Amino acid sequence: MQRPSDASAAPGFAPDGPADEPLVTIEALSVDFATPRGTIHALRDINLKVPRGRVLGLVGESGCGKSTLAYALIGLLADNARIAGGAIRMGRHDLARLGPAAWRDLRGRRIAMIFQDPMTALNPVAAIGRQMLDIQYREPGSRADKRARAIDFLGRVQIPDPEAKLDVYPHQLSGGMRQRVCIAMALLTRPDLLIADEPTTALDATLEMQIVALLRDLQRDFGCSVLFVSHHLGTVAELCDDVAVMYAGEVVETGSARQIFHTPRHPYTQALFDCDPARIAEATRQLPTIPGTLPDLRQPPAGCAFRLRCLHAWQRCAEDHPPLYAAPGGQLARCHLLDTPEDAA
Ligand code: SF4
Repeated sequence: MQRPSDASAAPGFAPDGPADEPLVTIEALSVDFATPRGTIHALRDINLKVPRGRVLGLVGESGCGKSTLAYALIGLLADNARIAGGAIRMGRHDLARLGPAAWRDLRGRRIAMIFQDPMTALNPVAAIGRQMLDIQYREPGSRADKRARAIDFLGRVQIPDPEAKLDVYPHQLSGGMRQRVCIAMALLTRPDLLIADEPTTALDATLEMQIVALLRDLQRDFGCSVLFVSHHLGTVAELCDDVAVMYAGEVVETGSARQIFHTPRHPYTQALFDCDPARIAEATRQLPTIPGTLPDLRQPPAGCAFRLRCLHAWQRCAEDHPPLYAAPGGQLARCHLLDTPEDAA
């Protein structure tokens, strides 16, 4: 699919580049939240690349920082959040340093987002058609062109009788249909990066797999990059090309989806898989969990953040903060177990 004419591009923004260069490069990103009980260091020294034209899955348990990272990438961090350091490079720009006006030019056009709950993402008192026209307010073309484009995109997300759906309100649609509308709206401006923040959490299992299949097809059609945030390993395996695992505000493992699912290197990733109900072969009344809780991110621990829950921890894990070590095939894991002389990244 062709990108809109240059006239619709955000001024001064140039994400185009060699196919083998990442679309977004996150460098040493740290984000803090000011709370009455102290500063929470929610993201710490994140280094991550979002490849062009691929789907990157971001996984980890609740509170690990994956949604904070997603919101930092679209400039929607909460008012009490502060980017404490690092950079988010996309084209010639550092998204971590953009002001409100620059973000208004970029958000929704170059970077779009599908939110977790489609009911609250849509305006409940505006018909679907009006919302789909409003979101195109900076796109070229007449009102009739934009209406035709809205109908086209509703068709692309497999909404039956798309023209008639322009006149309905969100509450008149099912949850699955509402999320399809949100996907259509996110793609209307043909973004370079689509962020999907747990987009299937509010749906039942059947609808979840339909939405995942739809996202996969649309990503192939549009060629955009997708950051797919999820705690559901099955959907990540189904959809993603690459995976980053987060724990306690850090990226602890990255690799291709095949590498992560077949040969997880980090003990936390291995523990996540051990707790995945889909992988438990025998019937049981008690599902396994990872013992312990996330560390207090007001005072991140010295050494490895996972050490109090790790079955392999030893003295060094309490003293040295592990870097990302390289494993065969380009996989990276933040664990001293990989510290062989030839593995230092
Ligand atoms: Fe476990 Fe130590 Fe590896 Fe951390 S560095 S995951 S505590 S073995």
